[in-house]
Amino acid sequence: MAPAPLDTLDLARGLIRCPSVTPAEAGSLSLLEEVLSGLGFACHRLPFAEEDSPEVDNLFARLGEAGPNLCFAGHTDVVPVGDPADWSVDPFAAELRDGCLYGRGAVDMKGSIAAFVAAVSAFLAEGGKPRGSLSLLITCDEEGVAINGTRKVLRWMREQGEQLDACLVGEPTSNARLGDMVKIGRRGSLNAEVVVAGTQGHTAYPQLADNPVHHLTRMLAALVNEPLDEGNAHFPPSSLQITSVDVGNAATNVIPPKATARFNVRFNDLYSSGSLETWLRERLDGAIDRARGAGYEMAIRVSGESFLCPPGPWSDLVSAAVAEVTGAAPELGTTGGTSDARFIKDHCAVAELGLLNATAHKVDEHVSLEDLTALTRIYRAVLDRHAAG
Ligand SMILES: [Zn+2]
Repeated sequence: MAPAPLDTLDLARGLIRCPSVTPAEAGSLSLLEEVLSGLGFACHRLPFAEEDSPEVDNLFARLGEAGPNLCFAGHTDVVPVGDPADWSVDPFAAELRDGCLYGRGAVDMKGSIAAFVAAVSAFLAEGGKPRGSLSLLITCDEEGVAINGTRKVLRWMREQGEQLDACLVGEPTSNARLGDMVKIGRRGSLNAEVVVAGTQGHTAYPQLADNPVHHLTRMLAALVNEPLDEGNAHFPPSSLQITSVDVGNAATNVIPPKATARFNVRFNDLYSSGSLETWLRERLDGAIDRARGAGYEMAIRVSGESFLCPPGPWSDLVSAAVAEVTGAAPELGTTGGTSDARFIKDHCAVAELGLLNATAHKVDEHVSLEDLTALTRIYRAVLDRHAAG
């Protein structure tokens, strides 16, 4: 006889009580491994290390060997709590208050992992048979540099001949109410630092100097004066935000020798990081007065390219499961930050669906018990629909 199905709330509380701030596993993967082994999953712990970045533990669990392989992907690592005194509860005590579960990771994303595991256990307990296999890819390196996490697990899977056919990522995608948005793509993210070199001098003798701050302000204006684009059917307009302008000049009578600015661009699929860099350099080059001998250097770090999994059978199935439980079909969106879906999209169709993001990464992060139950039902509907083929 199959064991009684696992309870979403119990599991979520167990996970929140593991203080797994990136990259610490803090017992969270061990808890999942124990639970999934009990459900018959073959579990692989996959610690990866690379010079200059901390070792990260990961978990890949699979039930069944046949295809198609339906995968749930997520992370048990959480962002730091900040000053615990700012919280009205202990961030790792998983307290219940006014019909809500409080704690770091409640929505991002231990609650959704618990909902999926509970949905699988109910599905199996009621005699459900997956069409092919079910798997979970869980990392402890999503909120950090994401070097030794999902990307390396996917590489390991490829080496093992493990294939994914569809993936559900449990990031908190809901905005105003549970299931109002399923994400089918994400914007890319690019960080840049621009350093402008001028010539130091006395403010009373500007003809003998070249003020880099004046160059930099014109260059930054050229970046923000016109929009990057208007967006398209699946993406909002790309957005460039200047995050810092630094000169570090304490004197009132000195023209400084250099000035630095940093900005972040969230870009849609009208750009690649390469074409975006070209756009940026064209504008910066056009605004700097090289006749005065000024020059600049720009260092770029790309944390993810933009991508879109066009609406298709997989997003249709997930949308139908949402509508079955909530009564309303979700919007298919691409807003928000990056997620590990950017790595998974190279392997299979991916859709993201999870809890409300309103308190993610904030003090007093919490989820309503009602939403935890409803999300479990939605994930269960995904399993049922996938099994029905
Ligand atoms: Zn997350």
